[in-house]
Amino acid sequence: MTRRPAAGLCDRCHHQRLVPNTRGSVFSLCERSRSDPAYPRYPRLPVRSCRGFEVRDDEAPR
Ligand code: SF4
Repeated sequence: MTRRPAAGLCDRCHHQRLVPNTRGSVFSLCERSRSDPAYPRYPRLPVRSCRGFEVRDDEAPR
């Protein structure tokens, strides 16, 4: 079983990537950190507000 804390906004964000490690934990990586150093690679969770947030397609209202 994998363990991970609730990531707040990141859990609904297009830029989140979940990264498992070998001990069964899963980390929330921010893909924006690749191109913008203002974003930490692994933000402190839960993220409550973020100017880079963009809703994931599967979260968008239909
Ligand atoms: S852009 Fe903000 S809300 Fe989205 S994954 Fe990065 S830190 Fe989380």
